[in-house]
Amino acid sequence: MIKLTRSKPPEQLTLEVQKKLTEEFKKDKKKSVWNKPYIREALLDECNHKCVYCESRIGSGYKEMHVDHFHYKDKYVDEVVSWNNLNPSCPHCNKSKSTHDTYKEPIINPFEDNPQDFFYITNYRYHSKNKDVDNIVRNTINVLGLNDTDDLVKRRFDLCNALSDKIIDIYELANVYQSILSEDTQKRNRVIKGCKNLLKLCTNTEEFSAFMATTIQEDDDYKKLKNLLQDLNLWDEELDELDKSVNKIRLATSRDN
Ligand SMILES: [Zn+2]
Repeated sequence: MIKLTRSKPPEQLTLEVQKKLTEEFKKDKKKSVWNKPYIREALLDECNHKCVYCESRIGSGYKEMHVDHFHYKDKYVDEVVSWNNLNPSCPHCNKSKSTHDTYKEPIINPFEDNPQDFFYITNYRYHSKNKDVDNIVRNTINVLGLNDTDDLVKRRFDLCNALSDKIIDIYELANVYQSILSEDTQKRNRVIKGCKNLLKLCTNTEEFSAFMATTIQEDDDYKKLKNLLQDLNLWDEELDELDKSVNKIRLATSRDN
């Protein structure tokens, strides 16, 4: 989970339209009044085509996007098309959350809370960062099923493990050729491009980016690769920006206290 910024509501969703749709819903709660193409498209853009909770890829060609009402719609009917209550999510998280009452028992909302203040991760699972947040973190993990083995933990492992393999490959390449990297353009380009591609896999638009960003920033071979490129004066501005943007979303890997 990463911190997200709420986008502006689509132009078509004026206050008047919201009022009308809310009334429609109050008359017939089976009516998916939020299910409009302009709403769905704006939500997908807002979340970079990823579930706001677990960061699974959603949208065309991936899992279907569900529109999660952060505050459950059947109970908090006035929020049924309130833009700040619509969280694009994957089927897993939306179904797990179901009718959970987030007013009575709050869970983390990445549009309002920064997940870095709540979680640390080990073994591809989320844990509570400290005792002050134990309660809300436990509720969040359980309500959303964030540590479910088949749906999430194994998929995070597969992606992060593939990333670690790629890091080794690029580091080995850089290491073998380090004495000639400054002169040999082709080999140098392969190493630099390879390193940029590694980082691009871990930016905030990518699947499971919190886990991917943490994996690369904790990886000893990545640290050695970075040092080597810096020593050879090959660490350029683009690499530096990518590295910083990845570092910005990483999570802690141990508990505070
Ligand atoms: Zn999800």
